[in-house]
Amino acid sequence: MSNYWDKEIEIMPREQLKKYQLELLKNMLEIVYHRSPYYKKSFNRSGVRPSDLKSLADLKKFPTIDKKILRERQQAVPDFGDLTCAEEKDFVFLSASSGSTGVPTASPFTGQDFEDFQDCQARLFWSSGMRPEDRYCHALNFTLFVGGPNVIGAMKLGALAIWAGAIPSDRLLAIFQTWRPTVTWTTPSYAWFLGETAKASGINPADLSIRKIFVAGEPGGSIPETQKSIESLWNADVYDYYGLSDIFGACAAMCQYKEGLHWAEDHILVEVVDPETGEEVSEGKRGEMVLTSLKKEARPLIRFRTGDIVSYTSQKCKCGRTHLRLHGIHGRLDDMMIIKGVNVFPSDIETIVRNNHNLTGEYLCVITEEKHMAVLTVEVEKIDRFNGDIEELKNEMQIECQKIIGIRPAVRILEPKSLARATHKAIRVRDERKM
Ligand SMILES: [Zn+2]
Repeated sequence: MSNYWDKEIEIMPREQLKKYQLELLKNMLEIVYHRSPYYKKSFNRSGVRPSDLKSLADLKKFPTIDKKILRERQQAVPDFGDLTCAEEKDFVFLSASSGSTGVPTASPFTGQDFEDFQDCQARLFWSSGMRPEDRYCHALNFTLFVGGPNVIGAMKLGALAIWAGAIPSDRLLAIFQTWRPTVTWTTPSYAWFLGETAKASGINPADLSIRKIFVAGEPGGSIPETQKSIESLWNADVYDYYGLSDIFGACAAMCQYKEGLHWAEDHILVEVVDPETGEEVSEGKRGEMVLTSLKKEARPLIRFRTGDIVSYTSQKCKCGRTHLRLHGIHGRLDDMMIIKGVNVFPSDIETIVRNNHNLTGEYLCVITEEKHMAVLTVEVEKIDRFNGDIEELKNEMQIECQKIIGIRPAVRILEPKSLARATHKAIRVRDERKM
């Protein structure tokens, strides 16, 4: 059996891939300019025309959009906004995401968009080692969530798909015991929570049939310490995925080598920019990810600012795939803490906490203010059997933080199980400053 779902595209030499992207991008800019009133106005205002794009580097002349614009345009032009480029009679699917403000924005798909989307899911699943003989238990929410239809991608690949959805943990565990799925998909914190719940009810998760866990939605899947803890709990491999409701379900996933997430660059073009200046940052450096859809027509996004902080490599992977790889998602711009002038993400703290065997792995970053300066206190829990010196443990954490992040936060060591456990998305920052 082949290692690839779509060999020609997955191992295409980068020069050729870039030519292909350029061709798709030129076509996409013509489509949005001629079909979407919003893009026409916005390009005109910035003094650019689709014909100004001669190379991929010219894309930076075009204006960016963000979640706020999507929300405003949907309110101004109901029901789907004026960024759409296909007629409603061609729409077959709609996903929606509320973001942090609670106003859902719609992302429609045409029949072709949906086909492309599911083909991309099948490709990513295949790259993580899923095969037709696998049983895939889909444990993600179905309601309006773009991750829901991923189950169809698993069916397209030929796996047996079990449509579980977001159901109570005891029912999900019962499904695991009855039909013995080999692959499942959750968030990292839920994979951890579910494993612990199983243990509490006398089931050893490692004895269940799950051998691959796909995770997305939190940085944990690319933090080696978190990945390893979930892997040993379940005796399974953890593969990190990245998706964005405004574009697609998953757009990037880990292959068997787990050295970053392979992006589907024939569907979506990636830029990484300095969030302050908008200038491109160099390969390997952290910046905000900006995405442009190359094929999706129902509502194409041109230079969408995701608010996700990433870094990437374009080095060819051991698996032979040539598409660029993200070194995981370091965090959301919204979660970034600025402490003594240093940008700190909860995922940085997580790496340190999960590496210390005297701690449970749970943590919370608390921000307070002292003399107009932000002060970070990291709350962690000691493990049950810890009987060493608390001050020493605190000091160890501070030294590690200084070494890895460059700041020395206050550390509060709590009793085991003092911090709230998340079922789906974990809250890692509490800002106690007065706004
Ligand atoms: Zn690879």
